[in-house]
Amino acid sequence: MEIEKKDIRSLTKTQLRDFFVANGDKAFRGNQVYEWLWSKASHSFEDMTNVSKETRAMLEAHFVINHVKVDQMQRSEDGTVKNAVRLHDGLVVESVLIPTETRTTACVSSQVGCSLDCNFCATARLKRMRNLEPGEIYDQVVAIDRESRLYYDRPLSNIVFMGMGEPLMNYNNVMKAIDMITSEEGLGMSPKRITVSTSGVSKMIKKMADDEVKFKLAVSLHSAIESTRNHIMPFTKNFPLPELREALQYWYQKTKSKVTYEYVVWKGINDDKASVDALVKFCKYVPCKVNLIEYNPIDDGEFQQASEEAINQYITALERNDIVAKVRRSRGKDIDAACGQLANKS
Ligand code: SAH
Repeated sequence: MEIEKKDIRSLTKTQLRDFFVANGDKAFRGNQVYEWLWSKASHSFEDMTNVSKETRAMLEAHFVINHVKVDQMQRSEDGTVKNAVRLHDGLVVESVLIPTETRTTACVSSQVGCSLDCNFCATARLKRMRNLEPGEIYDQVVAIDRESRLYYDRPLSNIVFMGMGEPLMNYNNVMKAIDMITSEEGLGMSPKRITVSTSGVSKMIKKMADDEVKFKLAVSLHSAIESTRNHIMPFTKNFPLPELREALQYWYQKTKSKVTYEYVVWKGINDDKASVDALVKFCKYVPCKVNLIEYNPIDDGEFQQASEEAINQYITALERNDIVAKVRRSRGKDIDAACGQLANKS
């Protein structure tokens, strides 16, 4: 019977060093292989030319590298690129490259499908199939970095965990991926250029604060009125706003890092004055800014983008209260690459 081989990237550097010692080699060999796996992002033992053929064969006998493969790449008329990323078991997730004048941002997925049930989001219609492994998150970033160099002549500058899935419901793997993305032994990117977006899993926001993470936090708020939020994001019944507020206060106290609220304004849902007032009030609890995101329709009648006037009402009220508010236009809509549109359609 063939035993299933272990994914070598699930080993820590220490474990890899120990593996070589246990197999009669030098611990240092572990460092060499670790460098191939992470900073060189190699997907094959064959690449590892500074270790002997016998060593490569031995690795092959014990391990696999469960890497991803970009199956399909679509390019939007605005320059946004969407990758359909095939995982080793055949499942597919999507990631997106978003170029601006000065930056390239990677929007990466953390789960296959999503654990949550936001009524306005296409990803929520896919059930959560499984969590992504650290290496699978890392590979999405590497792929986009390569595309950024190829198409835009510059390395990737920012990462947002705003693709498929709820990152805080795959906490350990997301943290391990970020460790490798920021480590000098990986991609060496600054954590300040990374944003993790959550729909508001309070307990895990506190855990991140305790873990003294250095990246930024975004919260998909969409309403600061409990009943409205519960209606559009049913799972939030388990994460009430007072708990979220307390978790965010804890986060700020520990990290001194401002929170970004993501907020879509919909006709008849949160385009009234009471909703504006509730948001302004909520924004006063913790230093923050607000991104008003354009709604990307997902073939559903209930949700419609609110009028320009309604959005301006938010901007005026927020600015009057010294809260920075920005309107974020959609990118990559024509290829279903915009917020909430990732649903493995192709
Ligand atoms: N689960 C995490 C990460 C996903 S981020 C989170 O909720 O934050 C994806 C962002 O796009 C979230 O802010 C989400 O609320 C928003 N979004 C989802 N569907 C959308 C749609 N149809 N139009 C615009 N934004 C949408």
